[in-house]
Amino acid sequence: MGEENKELKEALFYKRKNAFEECGDAGCDAASAYAEDYKKFLDASKTEREAVIAAIALAEKQGFRSYDFGDKLEVGGKYYFNNRGKSIYFFRIGTEPVENGVFISAAHIDSPRLDLKQNPLYEDSGMGFFKTHYYGGVKKYQWTAIPLALHGVVTKTDGTKVSVVIGEDESDPVLYINDLLPHLAREQMSKTLAQGITGEQLNILLGTKPIDNKSGDSAIKLNLMKLLNEKYGFTEEDFQSAELCGVPAYKARDIGLDRSLIGAYGHDDRVCAYAALTALFHTTDEKKTVVTILADKEEIGSEGTSGMQTMLFLDLLDEIASAFGANIHKLRRNSKCLSADVNAAFDPNFAEPYERSNSSYLNGGVCLTKYTGSGGKSGTNDASSEYVAYVRNIFDQNGVVWQSGELGKVDAGGGGTVAKYIAKYNIETVDLGVPVISMHAPYEVISKLDLYMTYKAFHSFNK
Ligand code: MN
Ligand code: MN
Repeated sequence: MGEENKELKEALFYKRKNAFEECGDAGCDAASAYAEDYKKFLDASKTEREAVIAAIALAEKQGFRSYDFGDKLEVGGKYYFNNRGKSIYFFRIGTEPVENGVFISAAHIDSPRLDLKQNPLYEDSGMGFFKTHYYGGVKKYQWTAIPLALHGVVTKTDGTKVSVVIGEDESDPVLYINDLLPHLAREQMSKTLAQGITGEQLNILLGTKPIDNKSGDSAIKLNLMKLLNEKYGFTEEDFQSAELCGVPAYKARDIGLDRSLIGAYGHDDRVCAYAALTALFHTTDEKKTVVTILADKEEIGSEGTSGMQTMLFLDLLDEIASAFGANIHKLRRNSKCLSADVNAAFDPNFAEPYERSNSSYLNGGVCLTKYTGSGGKSGTNDASSEYVAYVRNIFDQNGVVWQSGELGKVDAGGGGTVAKYIAKYNIETVDLGVPVISMHAPYEVISKLDLYMTYKAFHSFNK
């Protein structure tokens, strides 16, 4: 190729960026420093309820305060609406009329896990267990033979609520799910990965000691129930109104000899939640009204009062509009949203379901996704050409290293996000997020630079 054509190639071809090349040592240092605080947030946020508490603690330090319907809203005010302790909406009112639109960032704070059934406690063959019903898309075999922690709440009929965390403190015991030894697994090993461990085998091992050391009918179960009652004050019937779950007992840690990656439970999607939240804190443009949504229930279809499909989001926009005498319809039409969720990073060990030119890559920066969906874009928001161009331009103007990525090959599978539940209110919305290795596994992996670029993406959107 002649020199002239090399220049032509340079000018015409799309070149995938590499965040190391773009950021250099200074960028890596900034990303590593940012990652330290992110890991602390993750360790404190293993359920959506814990993420709400951790987010409020951070936000109050930044001057955000609790808002309820009907409260007075002021220009420059920083507010949060805590939705039942399970999802949360942060907003800061700008000086420009809200009719000109608000800038929304949305992410979800629920992650795949093993929920306890409502009647979970039993004993069998000298062992006490909790029965579980998995939450979200899990590969069941990944949840056996690893240390698990128990998190959640138990609400009693008098309304008192107790928070449970077992297995996080170094001095705590951890819990466990049994698997079959390979010596006897000839039949199990011949099954598919989907069938090798079934949902009904995901029973959490709790102990073996009978009450008063005397074996007998339900003596192990009684001892376990006594231990729970002594520590938390609830009885077996109170499980009926409990939300308890088994989650990996691992802490977030650096991965790799070069420490360029972070391993943790629940990057999906607390990584985007943390990036969106901290970008909101650092927003300096006083003109814009900025909203950050941390939603629940995304992993099971954004259902319920805490999922993105609830009317609450519309109610809050309505409150903001009426507080300033604005037309809600204009407010919505002029608003813009970055709907953040993780994407599948290309993995050479599992190359088959990926399409190389349209996958996201580790250290390629924040991943912009025009459409998600499955089976012919079904169930996607599919952002408009105009809006994708608007967002691209913001990123380019602000040194955000970004890439585009679809989840995988056409018809290889797919998935959805909260984007369409925001777009349905006539709000321009596009998906973006952090590429993840081993998404939905008990320990997921992301890159520190991609995390930092996602923070920068939100920040440049809000400024
Ligand atoms: Mn997600
Ligand atoms: Mn997910």
